[in-house]
Amino acid sequence: MDLPVISNSHRIAALDKDNCLSKKCHLECINFCPVNKSGSECIILDSDEKALISESLCNGCGICVNKCPFDAITIVNMAHEIGDEKIHQYGVNSFRLYRLPIPIPGKVVGLVGKNGVGKTTALNILSGNLKPNLGSYEKDVSWDDILSNFQGTELITHFKKIINNELTVSIKPQAVYKLKDYWKSDGLSLLQSIPNNNFSDDIIEELNLSTCINKPVKDLSGGELQRLSIAFAAIKEADVYFFDEPSSYNDVFQRLAVSNTIRKLSDKGKSVILIEHDITFLDYLSDYIHILYGEAGAYGIVSSSSSTRTGINNLIDGYLPNENIKFRNTKIEFNVYSPSELNSETQSIIEYDDFTKTYDNFILNVSSGKILEGQVLGIIGGNALGKTTFMKILSGIEKADKDNIETKIKISYKPQYLDSNYSDNVRNLLYTQGSQIDDEVFNNEIIRPLSINKIFEKNVNTLSGGELQKVAIAICLMKDADIYALDEPSAFIDVEDRMVLARSVQKFIKSNNKSAIIIDHDIQLIDILSDSLLLFDGNNGINGIANEPTNKFDSMNKFLQQLQITYRRDIESGRPRVNKYDSRLDKEQKSNNQYYYLSKAE
Ligand code: ADP
Ligand code: SF4
Repeated sequence: MDLPVISNSHRIAALDKDNCLSKKCHLECINFCPVNKSGSECIILDSDEKALISESLCNGCGICVNKCPFDAITIVNMAHEIGDEKIHQYGVNSFRLYRLPIPIPGKVVGLVGKNGVGKTTALNILSGNLKPNLGSYEKDVSWDDILSNFQGTELITHFKKIINNELTVSIKPQAVYKLKDYWKSDGLSLLQSIPNNNFSDDIIEELNLSTCINKPVKDLSGGELQRLSIAFAAIKEADVYFFDEPSSYNDVFQRLAVSNTIRKLSDKGKSVILIEHDITFLDYLSDYIHILYGEAGAYGIVSSSSSTRTGINNLIDGYLPNENIKFRNTKIEFNVYSPSELNSETQSIIEYDDFTKTYDNFILNVSSGKILEGQVLGIIGGNALGKTTFMKILSGIEKADKDNIETKIKISYKPQYLDSNYSDNVRNLLYTQGSQIDDEVFNNEIIRPLSINKIFEKNVNTLSGGELQKVAIAICLMKDADIYALDEPSAFIDVEDRMVLARSVQKFIKSNNKSAIIIDHDIQLIDILSDSLLLFDGNNGINGIANEPTNKFDSMNKFLQQLQITYRRDIESGRPRVNKYDSRLDKEQKSNNQYYYLSKAE
């Protein structure tokens, strides 16, 4: 990676304190450091028994990085000057953030980048919850110094308002499930509890909350909790609104509703900052984009802002032309044409006849189908249409009405909602699940690409949403099964890891002659990951219809026809972009039956 220089220091040495276990290692970093060997103290053991690395003595050789048995050290050598733009550093050998995104009244500013490079830090600083120290973590930095640092920039008024307590902010946090602990009553009373709120019944209607708004918050589904949290943040009167991953758990239709709610805030002249990993959603909603890049846990740099189209194309290319920074070696590729189907001679793992499943208030009708060896079947459709029930019946956990499904196959299922209630570390949790953690192939195909080895020593109940998601995916794939079913694997996973996930799962399934069923609402992930698609339709919470699995062209057309959405292709990157409803292209593509792919492959 071609990286900029941070002035005053050409080196960043960062230590992941959770991973630095000096009692369990042989102090390899201290013993092998060539600067230490020459008599200087480049790495020492601090009073808290953790490594302390001198950035001024370090020559950047990287020996300690390779020698540390717990992956605790990151050393970054910088190459170009970016000036003295450090905004915050948490401590010695800790994460540091350079530059900030700029909120703009009347605009939605999107923030995208891998996890651990400072999106939350930036959000905390801009919302006034974290006083920036400009890198001086040892002494208190005065607001005067902070103001003079931002003199002449667009952020000066923003910080003046923070200092004078004049900035009002509203935040929709990432971890919406925490709302269950925060509010013990129903959703309606939560919304009405905000003083001077802009509550009206319209928001309940708009965010499709009417059937759940009177239920206790603890009983809500993930999508309902997400939309309630969005309503809660949107009706608060504020100058700046922050939405941290508002797409998670919502289906495509609900994502569009959420984007309307957020757009109304910017239309009223409010500043909106949006942190999001779903490229389609980010593209649809943002006016400007900042990309955050860097080394997770070590440093993050906020790129200058660009138009949404340019910003997302840069993200896809892994290259920032204005800053001449390459932050990824490969481009993200999209299928412009629907890919050819698997050979019809391919052995099937399961073949099932039509079946139904009736519950008191819900009925699921399934058309016959088969799932092939080596096939990744993407499932698309709205929430509450019976997708989980479908999988439970195939795996024999539930019975169909006529009990006519032969269930010799084993399905390993990763649920949508994850439980972090485990008080040991990741390594031990993985050991309780199977022996693959020692298997070199599994390590190479899944554990290392998803960087799970870097969180082996972390306690499971302290993991971030994205880290927990990766562990849950690994646990699902470690089990002995015929079909691996991943329910919303993209939730809380960043754009970079979504692409790694797509490649790893494809490779794992094909090389092991297994099958996978992937349920996800990130259309581009589903496009990249799946070989064929199964469309669920019906009426949310009333009846579901599982269609026969088909080629991607037909299923995607049928799905998007129901939503009345078409996608055009970006000329440069080939990436799909949502057309404006009833625009010339939208009408033209609808009449040509080109909702997503240009044509079906032969
Ligand atoms: P993102 O939101 O992009 O995932 P964050 O801003 O949450 O990134 O975190 C960036 C890095 O800063 C992470 O490595 C995180 O562990 C570290 N970090 C966050 N808060 C603190 C803190 N209070 N003290 C030390 N390090 C922190
Ligand atoms: Fe020592 Fe720096 Fe080399 Fe690590 S990277 S071994 S701290 S000189």
